[in-house]
Amino acid sequence: MTGENRALIAFCGLYCGDCLRLGSRAAELAAKLRAELEKSRFAEYVQVKSEFAPEFQDYPAFLKVLQAVIDLDCPSGCRKGGCPGLDCAIRACCLDKQLDGCWECDGLDQCDRFDFLTPWHGDVVRHNLRPIRALGPEAWLERRPLFYVWLKTD
Ligand code: SF4
Ligand code: SF4
Repeated sequence: MTGENRALIAFCGLYCGDCLRLGSRAAELAAKLRAELEKSRFAEYVQVKSEFAPEFQDYPAFLKVLQAVIDLDCPSGCRKGGCPGLDCAIRACCLDKQLDGCWECDGLDQCDRFDFLTPWHGDVVRHNLRPIRALGPEAWLERRPLFYVWLKTD
């Protein structure tokens, strides 16, 4: 294996190790930037500056996005807490059934607990589960498709 971590395969078949939210450096740096802006009372500076530099009038929107980037951080992945801010029915179901993941479930084809993931991931999550089931998690990990948009190069 090349640094992949079996424990980062999520119950749903996503791979937390490929997700930019896991231990996000961007979120960490965004939090540092927000702290520095607050410490230097940058908002007060912007109030004056925006009279002469109109781009600073968007500073409140910038702070909103900065906070959203901070909030993206996922400290430990699916198995150690799940996607932050998500009360995940898939994760709860696997824990309840004491399954390693949905690939071990006989009810996968009929399951409607994946619907909430469709707007963001389409059918990718479900499509991941069948090869995980067929190959086993370790072998799948080495062959997994890089489906997250930020990993695609074409
Ligand atoms: S919390 Fe749910 S959606 Fe998030 S990775 Fe785990 S099983 Fe998938
Ligand atoms: S019913 Fe099966 S496929 Fe659906 S969430 Fe639960 S374990 Fe996963």
